[in-house]
Amino acid sequence: MTTFMEIKPTTSQGDSKSNAVVRGARAVEPLIFEKSVAGQRAVDLPPLDVPHADLPEELLGDGINLPEIGQHDLMTHYTHLSDRNFSVDGNFYPLGSCTMKHNPRINEWAAALPGLASLHPLQDDTQIQGALRLLYETRCFLEEISGLDEVCLQPAAGAHGEYTALKIIRAYFKDNGQPQRNIVLAPDNAHGTNPASCSMCGCSVNMVKSISGYTDLDDLRRQIDKHGAENIAAFMITNPNTAGLFDSKIAEAADIIHDAGAKLYLDGANMNAILGKTRPADFGADLMHFNTHKTFSTPHGCGGPGAGPIAVRKEFAPYLPIPQVIMADDGSFSLDRDRQKSIGKVRSFTCQFGVLVRCWTYISACGPEGLRNVAEKAVLNANYLAAKLRDVYEMPYFDPENGRFCAHEFVTVPEKLLAKGVTLNDIAKRMIDYDVHPPTMHWPVHDCLMIEPTETESKPTLDRFVSVMLNIAKQINEDASSLADAPTDATIRRADEVAAARKPMLIWE
Ligand SMILES: *Cc1c(COP(=O)(O)O)cnc(C)c1O
Repeated sequence: MTTFMEIKPTTSQGDSKSNAVVRGARAVEPLIFEKSVAGQRAVDLPPLDVPHADLPEELLGDGINLPEIGQHDLMTHYTHLSDRNFSVDGNFYPLGSCTMKHNPRINEWAAALPGLASLHPLQDDTQIQGALRLLYETRCFLEEISGLDEVCLQPAAGAHGEYTALKIIRAYFKDNGQPQRNIVLAPDNAHGTNPASCSMCGCSVNMVKSISGYTDLDDLRRQIDKHGAENIAAFMITNPNTAGLFDSKIAEAADIIHDAGAKLYLDGANMNAILGKTRPADFGADLMHFNTHKTFSTPHGCGGPGAGPIAVRKEFAPYLPIPQVIMADDGSFSLDRDRQKSIGKVRSFTCQFGVLVRCWTYISACGPEGLRNVAEKAVLNANYLAAKLRDVYEMPYFDPENGRFCAHEFVTVPEKLLAKGVTLNDIAKRMIDYDVHPPTMHWPVHDCLMIEPTETESKPTLDRFVSVMLNIAKQINEDASSLADAPTDATIRRADEVAAARKPMLIWE
C-alpha cells in the first residue's frame, strides 16, 4: 500500500486515529488517507518520440510503487495539506525577533520575472548587466540605510552575516599586527547565534550584564579590564535589543569599545524599528548585518530562504568576500574578484539572488518615506499592544509613565497568571486555539513571551489579539486547569515535544 505523507496527530489522549478533524468551529470531512486508486492518472505522458531501447534488467530494478491518482484528487490533497499549514498569509504571527511581516506580492512578481529567475550563475558578466545593476543598487540602498561604507551581499542569513563579519574582523586585526584580539563581548540577552558565530570564528564570548534590559556600561568597562583591552576584538550588540528596547547609550558603548581599540558589531535583525530614523554608523557601529528576510520582507521560517548582507566601514572593505559587484565609470557592472586580502567566499556563486530581488523590490517600492513609515508603524503597533495588555500581562521593561516605551516588540512575564498554576506553555498552546502563532518564549528572559506585531497588522487584528489574550487570562483566572490540554480546537493536539523531536513519526500508519 502506498500512502501519502501525513502528519500523525501525536495526542496526549492517545486517540491518534480519530477521523474527524475539527478546525475552529467547522468540522471538515473525514480524512481518507489512502488516495491511490489503481488505473487513475493525473497526466498523460506524450507519445514516445525516440527509438525504443531495451534497458538492462539491473538498471530497471523492480519498478517503483507510485500512487495512482487523478489530477483533481492530487490537487485537493495538497491544497488540504497546505490549508493545515500555519502561515503569515493566513494568520497573526507575532513571533518576537523574527519580524514575520506580510510579504507584498510585488516582490514575488519581480522575483519570478523570467529575465531574473532564469539566469544561470555562470553566465558572463556582459550578459547579466540588469541583474548586476539590481545587486549594485541593493548594495547602495543598504549602504545608505546603514550609513556604512561598503556592503557585501554574499552571506545567506543573519547568522551567516555575523560569521562573515567576525572573520573579517579577525583578518583585519591579524593584518594589523594584533592577532591576539579574539575575545568578543556581548550582552547577556544576546541572540543565540551571536555566541555561536563567535566560536565558529575561533573567538571566545564573554557576557556583559544588562540592567533592566539595557547594557550595563560599567560591566562593559569591567569586562574590558578583566580580559585586557588588547585582547578584545569586538562588542556585539543588537539594537533595538532583544528586550524590545532601543539602547540610547549605544554611542557611549561605542566610545568605550573604540577606546579599547576594538570594534562595535551591530546585529541588525531589529532594523525594522529604526529604518530611516537613525543609521547604525551614526551610533558608532563599525560592521553590521541585515536580515533582509525579516526587515525587507521575504517569506521565511523553518530555516530559509534568507539573505544576511553585511555593511562595513572603509577599513574593512579589503577583506570582504569575493566576488563583489561593482560599477565602472562608464556605468557598466561587473563582478570583482581582485581583492588580495579578501577572506574568500562564504557561499557558492554570488549571493541569494532571488531573495535580494525581493529586497530590492521592497526597498524601491517603499522609498525613504515608506521605510520610515515602516519603522514608525512597527513601533506604534507594539506600543499599542503593550499598553493594552500590561495590566494583565506584566512587562518588566515597559513603563510608559517613566518614558520607557518599547521599540518594535515587547516582553511579558505574566507572573500573576503563572501564579494561578498554568505554565507559560499552556498559555502559548491556548493561543493556537485562536489561530495565533505563539510568540518567542524563554528568551531573553527565562520564562517570557516576546511579542512582535509588525507594521503590517491592521488595528482590527491587533484588537482581536488583545481580546484573545484577555480571554485566555480570564480562563486562567476561572480555572487554570482548563488550559492543560490546549490546543483542543486545532488540527493537532498538544505534542509530546521530546518524542516529536527524538522519534518523529511522519507517516500515517
Ligand atoms: C533572527 C536573528 C538572528 C539570526 O538571523 P538568521 O537570519 O535567522 O540567521 C540573529 N540575531 C537576532 C537578534 C535575530 O532576531
